[in-house]
Amino acid sequence: MVKDIIVIGGGIGGLTAALLLQKKGFSVRLYEAGSAIKGEGAGIGIGSNAIKVLQEAGVVKELFQQVREAIVS
Ligand SMILES: Cc1cc2nc3c(=O)[nH]c(=O)nc-3n(C[C@H](O)[C@H](O)[C@H](O)COP(=O)(O)OP(=O)(O)OC[C@H]3O[C@@H](n4cnc5c(N)ncnc54)[C@H](O)[C@@H]3O)c2cc1C
Repeated sequence: MVKDIIVIGGGIGGLTAALLLQKKGFSVRLYEAGSAIKGEGAGIGIGSNAIKVLQEAGVVKELFQQVREAIVS
């Protein structure tokens, strides 16, 4: 069975896929072409379907915490 997986692209899709695959026991190597994560200067709307996937990946609590801190500061 395949145990090593390469994910190309560290956008929300690649990062989420890598997290979920890792949780399933796969060894994941992620490659990102960009040298830094940068904001686009726009707000982000997250659909309920996306929230469900992010919940499964185990990052929703941390995400909401970061949003709360950004609003307060
Ligand atoms: C201004 C703006 C506002 C938006 N607002 C929202 C919003 O509010 N809500 C929402 O749901 N969506 C929003 N979107 C859409 C959302 O950003 C995209 O749907 C989402 O980012 C797609 O994620 P992705 O991981 O598929 O692709 P991307 O985010 O494009 O990530 C792909 C990554 O792959 C990397 N890459 C590409 N080629 C290679 C390669 N050969 N090797 C290594 N790395 C590579 C790129 O550098 C990039 O980091 C917005 C988009 C824009 C531009």
